[in-house]
Amino acid sequence: MHRQATNDSSAATPFGWIDEQSAQRRAAGLVRVLRPRAAESDRLDLAGNDYLGLSRHPEVTEGAAAAARHWGGGATGSRLVTGSTELHAELERELAEFCGFEAALVLSSGYAANLAAVTALAPHGSLIVSDAGNHASLIDGCRLARGATSVVAHADPEAVGKALDTHTGPAVAVTDSVFSVDGDAAPLAQLAAVCREYRAGLIMDDAHGLGVLGAGGRGAAQATGLAGDPDVVATLTLSKSLGSQGGAVLGPAKVIEHLVNTARTFIFDTGLAPAAAGAALAALRLLSREPERAAQARAVAAELHGRLTAAGLQAVRPDAAVVSVRAPSPDEAVQWAADCRAAGLVVGCFRPPSVPDGISRLRLTARATLTGDQIERAVRTIERTAPAGARTA
Ligand code: PMP
Repeated sequence: MHRQATNDSSAATPFGWIDEQSAQRRAAGLVRVLRPRAAESDRLDLAGNDYLGLSRHPEVTEGAAAAARHWGGGATGSRLVTGSTELHAELERELAEFCGFEAALVLSSGYAANLAAVTALAPHGSLIVSDAGNHASLIDGCRLARGATSVVAHADPEAVGKALDTHTGPAVAVTDSVFSVDGDAAPLAQLAAVCREYRAGLIMDDAHGLGVLGAGGRGAAQATGLAGDPDVVATLTLSKSLGSQGGAVLGPAKVIEHLVNTARTFIFDTGLAPAAAGAALAALRLLSREPERAAQARAVAAELHGRLTAAGLQAVRPDAAVVSVRAPSPDEAVQWAADCRAAGLVVGCFRPPSVPDGISRLRLTARATLTGDQIERAVRTIERTAPAGARTA
């Protein structure tokens, strides 16, 4: 049919089709809105991912400022042209050493790092076995990769083995080390054993593990004895425990060299801003000096979980610093989070389509620097505002 001949109102204007989608979203109570936050506020934040409380640490903000003064406000170009500074090289050396890998590559975000790792390591003819609970950036990596993807049940090494068994040729299993929605850890040791059996690589996204898991926060790979394993690649974000912005891929030097030569989100993207690199490096050095911050974040998470569970709420036992609390419905989750906010407590609210299982949750993040009083205030607020259906029978 000729485009002009249609009477369909959704085709009347180029973006007319959006109206119908928006109406559906509104009707389902799933509209998302941006809420700019003020720099200074007496609200208690249990929604951000600043797990170690470093993003406003004077050494970290000075690391950003000094890097900007020295290197400029931006990287000026892609890493292979003008965007690689000595600061980037230093950050890569220290990240690799801290986490126990041979080499590292820094990218402009964790999202870009995941796209880079998955696409570069899953060539045409290969198989990617991806956990059903993986973060959107890993899912998008699978969508962009030339290899085929098999999505398997959440945290199920046996299912990974079954999928790998059907394939000849290069293969990788891809998983979050700590899942961003429920805060549960992947069975990394079992996954690594299955991968070894089928000679598959393992890519783990350690966005929520760095700074929290392992000795002194050296991450999930270190915690499970997989750091430096030649068949293992870890991806990171610099935006959570390190309080900065950016991402990284860690692995064998030959994998990193391969990424430099083939990963499109590395090659065609402007290099990480010097301020972000400077902040991340300062945070990493701080964490090396103050390794107890990692255990503090885990202890705060355990305390939040224990007290919420004691109050009859359905909180998932945290393996790192994310504590998820189940809500009866998307609407009640939104109202619960709004009631918390009105009482001065900011919590995350996860609901469809961001949750693969359709269960809405409040998502709390433990921060190493939370005081006993702040934990008390947070728990009391969540308890007081909970909808009736949030409590266990
Ligand atoms: N992986 C996971 C598990 C994440 O939670 C996030 C951040 N939400 C990312 C990757 C993306 O990292 P970044 O925000 O640095 O792009």
